[in-house]
This record gives sequence, structure tokens and C-alpha cells, in this order.
Amino acid sequence: MRQKVDRVWRNARIASLRGDGYGVVDKAALATTDGKISWLGPQAEMPDFDLSETIDLDGRWITPGLIDCHTHLVYAGNRAQEFEQRLGGATYEEISKAGGGIVSTVRATRAASKDELIRQSLPRLDHILADGVTTIEIKSGYGLDTETECRMLEAARALGQQRRVRVRTSFLGAHALPIEAGGDKDAYIEMVCTEQLPAAARAGLVDAVDVFCEGIGFSNGQTRRVFEAAKALGLPVKLHAEQLSNLNGAALVAEYGGLSADHLEFVDEAGIRAMAAAGTVAVLLPGAFYFLCDTHVPPLDLMRKHGLAMAVATDCNPGSSPLTSILLAMNMACTLFQMTPVEALAGVTRHAAKALGMTAEIGTLEAGKACDLAIWDIEHPAELSYAIGFNPLYQRIVGGQNA
Ligand SMILES: [Zn+2]
Repeated sequence: MRQKVDRVWRNARIASLRGDGYGVVDKAALATTDGKISWLGPQAEMPDFDLSETIDLDGRWITPGLIDCHTHLVYAGNRAQEFEQRLGGATYEEISKAGGGIVSTVRATRAASKDELIRQSLPRLDHILADGVTTIEIKSGYGLDTETECRMLEAARALGQQRRVRVRTSFLGAHALPIEAGGDKDAYIEMVCTEQLPAAARAGLVDAVDVFCEGIGFSNGQTRRVFEAAKALGLPVKLHAEQLSNLNGAALVAEYGGLSADHLEFVDEAGIRAMAAAGTVAVLLPGAFYFLCDTHVPPLDLMRKHGLAMAVATDCNPGSSPLTSILLAMNMACTLFQMTPVEALAGVTRHAAKALGMTAEIGTLEAGKACDLAIWDIEHPAELSYAIGFNPLYQRIVGGQNA
């Protein structure tokens, strides 16, 4: 009896991202059954399937659906006026005193209902998805109280119901210190660990726990306190680490077997070695580097030397990276960090899946994984990193269905 499949895309070129390179299969076909990839390979070797639908791709390329593994997509308001003030010469202190900075985003987000958060975040999501993204991670962190942190995560999950996209949510209560904490970071962290995080976890809203470990965020010791609370709840951890200084956050998140350490401009070799031993992914965020006019490039040669998996993400957020294009993030990773185009593509597919703990389901094209695809009008996959502000997406597929 012939094997039944739902759909076959034929006359395609495939970059499966299996192995170290693009994983190219020429003159290829790919079959899907029940939302998963059931077969892929050279078309000439395709079994005689019992087919419902065949789609001729006329030589177009298929890659895994792209994955944006680090975003702060859900928030209210924006900081465009602050941007304007800063370019007009206002100092950070002046902007802060005038009620600007992260405090203004927290104020606007606390004041917004769940529906309002969804309404304001949806256009950003749509823009990101238009680049062929099929999975996105969204963090909390602009509530800084139990109720608003949970509302942000609920809004993030609801966005995944409104569009065909997989959403992973990270709890980031330890993002900044709210004004009402009166400067007491330890007391606030205690509240994050004993109230905010347990409440969000109980509600089933937390896929991973994140912290902003930085001089202007939280210390290495305070981060450890949050990681202990996550561990007690059986939740994986990730970390904003070594963006503006080295607080040995990379080694700390590796010690907890963390999914990823993100930013890493100032990471040292000891931190990279610890990450390599733990299998912790380096998530590079060139949008923030660009927007903050940073000059301290993360040490990619050291990461390569130790065989770190390197992911790339937008870091979409209102303060330091108002970026809603993963393709532009890939281009910036190449131009600003000297990533190669194949590394950039692996960074938004195979390695981004690992940064979310989703390697078994997504990130490469192989039989048994979810049929999440991006189909492109290109002649070579390097075009995805090469173009600036050009989008060659032909079709986005999530779970075998047009999205
Ligand atoms: Zn971030």
C-alpha cells in the first residue's frame, strides 16, 4: 500500500541546516503528514506517495521556518520621543528625570489591559512573521509586579492564538528595579522569587526564566537567587549577560545548565569555556549593539574556537532595539560581528531552536520534526543575510499549513 501524505512541495532547493553547513539538497521534494515532515530528499528518489496535494516550487528555496529566540515584543507605548531628545543632546539623567527610560515603558504597560497589549503588539509581531519567522520567544519584564508580569505573558500567549506561530514565553521579572522598590534590589529579588515567579509558573505561563545581569540590572548573586527559585520550580534558565560589562553571568548560567546567555559583548574565555561545557547557546543581538552605537564586539573567534552554538535574534524592545526584522538582524550580525551568512542562517534556525530547548521539534528540516518552513524567491541562501531591508519571502508554512 502506498504511504499517504498530505502535501508535497516539489521542484525545490532545500537548505535543511542539518550538519555544519546549509545542508543543501538540489532538485528536492519535501512531504508533510499531520503537521510534520514525513519525507525529504532528491525528488528522483521520492517514494510513490498517495498524495492529496502537490505544489511545484519552480526552483525556489526551502529553509526551516526562522526562529526569533529573544524578544521583548509585548509592551505598551514607545520611546521615539526619548530617542529624539537623546539625539537633540539630552543626557540619560535628564531623560530619566523627565520620566523617560524603562520607567516610562513600565508605566504604560501597567496601565494597559491585556487586549490593549495585544492590540499594540500585533503589528510588531506581523512584521517579524513577514520575514519567515514561525517561532518567537517573548519575555515579560515591563510589569515588575505579579499582576502585570502575568498579564504580559498572557498577552504573549494570546498572540500565538491570533496568528499561526509558535510562541515561547520567558519570565523576566528581574529586568529592572521598579520605582516603588525604593532602590532595594535584594528585597525586590526576594519578591520576584517568592511571589511573581511562583504565580506566573502556577498559571502555566513560563517556559523559561530570564534575568538582566548587569550593573544597571541585577548582580551575579541576585541572579543566582532567581536561578535557584527557577530550579526549585523545574524551569530552565537563560540570561542577559555581559552586555555592558563582565559580571561572570555566562559562567553562572552555564553552571545551571542554562539554555542560553544573550548579548555577550564582554564575555571572557572562561565564560565561553563554561558555556561550551554546558551546551549553553550564545545568543547575539546586533540590533541593540547597533541602536546603542556600541563598539565592543562580542568575541566570535573565541566562541568559534570553543565550538559554541551561536544564535541571532532581534531583541525587539522599545528602549535599546526597536527592531522587527530577523533578516535585518542577520545582516547586522554579518556586517557588525563578522558572522558568515551560513552562521547567521544557522543562528536563526538550528541554534535558535537550541536556545529555546526545542531542538527535537524545530530548527532543521528532517523527517519527524514539525513542518515549519520558509520558502524563498532567492538564488542562494546567502541572499538572506546580504540584502538590507529587502524581503524575498514567498510563503510561510507552520505545521504543514500556509500561514
Ligand atoms: Zn533582551
